[in-house]
Amino acid sequence: MENKLDGNAAGGILQEIFPFDMTLVQATCTDCGATDAIGALAVYMHGMGTVVRCPSCESVLIRVARAEGRYWLDMRGVRVLQISVET
Ligand SMILES: [Zn+2]
Repeated sequence: MENKLDGNAAGGILQEIFPFDMTLVQATCTDCGATDAIGALAVYMHGMGTVVRCPSCESVLIRVARAEGRYWLDMRGVRVLQISVET
């Protein structure tokens, strides 16, 4: 059973891992090449954690969970992350 959430909902747990605002980071899908801000992606909450899917092809981009005292981060669906820095 999946609960669909706004992409900004993924920001919470990803923010615990990454030191920059993940909702603004652009992710490129490995399968279809679509590039979107993580804050604009489809996010599903599972008992096992958070799943971020590509809005174009529904492929899983990111899986992240916290269990047993560690984070489990699967980003095999992301080809490139674009992280903006302040200039
Ligand atoms: Zn895709």
